[in-house]
Amino acid sequence: MSDSLEQLKAILAEVTDLSRAAAMLEWDQETYMPPGGVAARSDQLSTLHRLSHIRFTGDEVGRLLEELEDETSGKPFDSYEASLVRVTRRDYEQERKLSPELVSEAARASSAARPVWEQARREADFKIFAPALEKNVELNRQIADAIGYQDRRYDALLDRYEPGLTTGELETIFAELKKAIVPLVADIARHTDAVDDRVLYLGYDPAAQVRYALDLVTKLGYDLERGRQDISTHPFSTSFGPGDVRITTRVSRDFFNECLFGSIHESGHAMYNQGIGDDIDRTPLWAGASPGVHESQSRLWENLVGRSPAFWKHFFPSLRSTFPDQLRGVDDEAFFRAVNRSYPSLIRVEADEVTYNLHVLLRFELENEMLEGTLKVKDLPEAWNSRVKSYLGIDVPNDREGVLQDIHWSYVGFGVFPGYTLGNLIGAQLMEKIRADIPDLDAQIEAGQFAALLGWLRKNVHRHGRKFTPNELLERATGKPLEAGPWIAYVQKKFGALYGIKAARV
Ligand code: ZN
Repeated sequence: MSDSLEQLKAILAEVTDLSRAAAMLEWDQETYMPPGGVAARSDQLSTLHRLSHIRFTGDEVGRLLEELEDETSGKPFDSYEASLVRVTRRDYEQERKLSPELVSEAARASSAARPVWEQARREADFKIFAPALEKNVELNRQIADAIGYQDRRYDALLDRYEPGLTTGELETIFAELKKAIVPLVADIARHTDAVDDRVLYLGYDPAAQVRYALDLVTKLGYDLERGRQDISTHPFSTSFGPGDVRITTRVSRDFFNECLFGSIHESGHAMYNQGIGDDIDRTPLWAGASPGVHESQSRLWENLVGRSPAFWKHFFPSLRSTFPDQLRGVDDEAFFRAVNRSYPSLIRVEADEVTYNLHVLLRFELENEMLEGTLKVKDLPEAWNSRVKSYLGIDVPNDREGVLQDIHWSYVGFGVFPGYTLGNLIGAQLMEKIRADIPDLDAQIEAGQFAALLGWLRKNVHRHGRKFTPNELLERATGKPLEAGPWIAYVQKKFGALYGIKAARV
């Protein structure tokens, strides 16, 4: 290996270590830190993010990249060297456009806004959070302007998270989804009696739920030698390297889905990171391809696997012996139907597969409008409520169950939300190919065998880390760029059958 490559890798390793140290402090802030720690923690995070930014954007990295671009020009596109240089260059160009002051200001504002959002959410009062959000919108705007864009301000932010995708392309995808979802929601509304989910609300011991969920996700393939699970208000997964990939969950006595499906979801994220190649550790390649691709892994395990009939044929007997009182007289088919009940609801993370993307659509629209200045922060709750009414047909009773429900706007990160919908689409597109490659997948799931599925994901998605953009990855794995068709076909078939909707309409 050349000297330049060794020198570049040494710098990138330091930058990675600083970011992982920040991630560790963020994990602690979400799980165990006492409320009094906020001020000092904001300072620490701001310092770490600034140092890693300065180290990464120095002239030395630019010089090394130039030398290496010559050296690696003949290497295959997917080789370690070519990929490292290509992806580092992309990050470098973007980060160079942001001043250390702006980066540190964004980190500080995000960390400081977090407890303000929590308080506002607790008190269901958007006015408490509005000043912090105004500040974050302004910082998002400054970041977009510093990076630059041709057409839409949102493009600049989107490209940081979902490289290669534009705001216009997203609008086309959302329009296609809306056209398919809205009539399906209406059809389901005419057949609500077909699915009964009362069994999910019978009161389940929280500690037993957490134990059952953790045991289940290790059976899927989440490795506890390199992971752990804790409790947090907002479930997430995070990594500090290949040997330490953590998940958090939350649990409700009164609603079964929260803990189990939340844990499956987060373990989907964590299995992705546990599967990234060790050979690309401590470089910018050691991460998911994008938030959307990351979400494809969590949603694939949570929904395409965890909400399938085969999955419950396997797991229901052990669930029933864990909760014999609640599940007496219930069978796997009834339980499978219960966990798939579809109805318009207020909370995105609890939304069923059909209505979920409408929740994302409205956030994408509102972020865009705030960024472009056509929507004032003070008018956000009203805009939120009226859009929920128009897309989902329901009234929002308070800000906690409305505009304040998600943590995302407490940090400076517009452009992340669309990834949730992209994840659904990418997951379904991958699954179509997985089913072609593993024809007896359902039989394997029913037998509790997940190794072939995880192996497929490891080989085609996980091990590559960030080597490829979402579309490059999809083309390599499925032969096609991103498309909405497989997801639309999947929900129409599954929910058409569940709700007995006539095939003519489906
Ligand atoms: Zn997720």
